[in-house]
Amino acid sequence: MRAVICGAGIAGLAAAARLHHHGWEVCVVEKAPGPRPQGYMIDFFGPGYETLGLMGLRSRLHELGRRVDGIEYIDSEERVRARVDYAAFEKAAKGEIVSLLRPDLELLLRETVGDKVDLRYATTIDHIDDTPGGATVTLSDGSIHDADMVVGADGIHSHVRSLVFGPEQDYLYYLGMHTAAFVFDDPETARRVDRKFVMLDDVDAQLGLYTTRDDRVAVFAVHRSPDMALPADPREVLQQRFQHLGGLARRALAHCPPSDELYYDQVAQIELPRWSNGHTVLLGDAAYAVSLIAGQGASLGVTGAYVLAERLAAADSVPEALDDFERRVRSLVDDRQAVVRRRGANVFLPSSPLRLRLRYGVMKALRLPGTSRLLRNGLIGKFHTPVADLSA
Ligand SMILES: Cc1cc2nc3c(=O)[nH]c(=O)nc-3n(C[C@H](O)[C@H](O)[C@H](O)COP(=O)(O)OP(=O)(O)OC[C@H]3O[C@@H](n4cnc5c(N)ncnc54)[C@H](O)[C@@H]3O)c2cc1C
Repeated sequence: MRAVICGAGIAGLAAAARLHHHGWEVCVVEKAPGPRPQGYMIDFFGPGYETLGLMGLRSRLHELGRRVDGIEYIDSEERVRARVDYAAFEKAAKGEIVSLLRPDLELLLRETVGDKVDLRYATTIDHIDDTPGGATVTLSDGSIHDADMVVGADGIHSHVRSLVFGPEQDYLYYLGMHTAAFVFDDPETARRVDRKFVMLDDVDAQLGLYTTRDDRVAVFAVHRSPDMALPADPREVLQQRFQHLGGLARRALAHCPPSDELYYDQVAQIELPRWSNGHTVLLGDAAYAVSLIAGQGASLGVTGAYVLAERLAAADSVPEALDDFERRVRSLVDDRQAVVRRRGANVFLPSSPLRLRLRYGVMKALRLPGTSRLLRNGLIGKFHTPVADLSA
């Protein structure tokens, strides 16, 4: 069996690894010229953490992780408004949580894939023609491939989705915010941040600082924007929107890379009535982005890839497996998307001084006994089917 996967991100590489494991011949195309070093810090827990355990990758995951001691909310004068011990999150996740850079998660999956698949950088898919037994795929390097299945794992702005399912605007649910991320070297800021996640926030804007395992500083910014259109000069927008958060924010912004090197995007979800069409299936953010607010997009990308490969191995035909995969993974995704739409956005980015104070109060309350289960429900969801059962 042969698959062409578009996107060598988290979902695409995980799918490549699992399909190869089940004996598939895999070609992965990635539009970037090589692995992208820029990225942001993610917390990896829930079903994705379980999945990497099933793939035998937990110890390497922890090796690549960065120990975080706690979250500190500070104001523009650097006074601490609230402090949360990271142990509260570890306890809620029953120890099954790792903080790491997104490029490091990709590295882990790339190591797993090794040279077992045909991985082509600076390449994309130009055409997909569905045929009775599979699909004929034309790549941008001019080669033509007959595949049993095409996987669109090319992220929230998926090109495969627009080729096979139609324009993005039909599926994108904008959550009213823009986000940005970059990593920079500055020993003084790294010392100040140390092993904490330092949050500088105000109504409608927040900027977080972490240090990476090689002691660089990772910045993550979110601000409310009624206009979903991306600005022409995102760097300039960051300079305007976050200066008022104080000296530490200004120091970070001084290291902001040029707009064309900066990660800057809408905070959004993707909702499609079906994730497959003929022999093409969408995976990860391309099919079901839950948004950074859910804190589980990477986790669900890896989980989806695992369940997809398992169901393909068990089914008699590709279309049958694609339906089965969707039925199983949708329940996880629907729950996470609904939580974000119901209340996540306002909790994540308070829209008034009162809501901001309430959030500090909630953070402080996490120290109290008995809050662990509530935090676990918020993080992972109330009903959680183990991935081993979901894929069996
Ligand atoms: C700031 C921020 C913080 C986050 N925090 C967390 C967190 O704490 N925990 C968590 O689990 N998730 C988190 N997420 C979400 C998570 O990063 C995404 O859900 C995850 O990266 C999705 O993986 P993916 O493989 O589906 O897509 P992506 O990671 O976007 O990968 C898609 C790949 O496809 C490639 N591509 C795009 N177009 C084409 C094309 N035309 N041809 C070929 N290749 C193409 C891209 O270059 C990329 O390599 C966060 C997201 C953001 C933005």
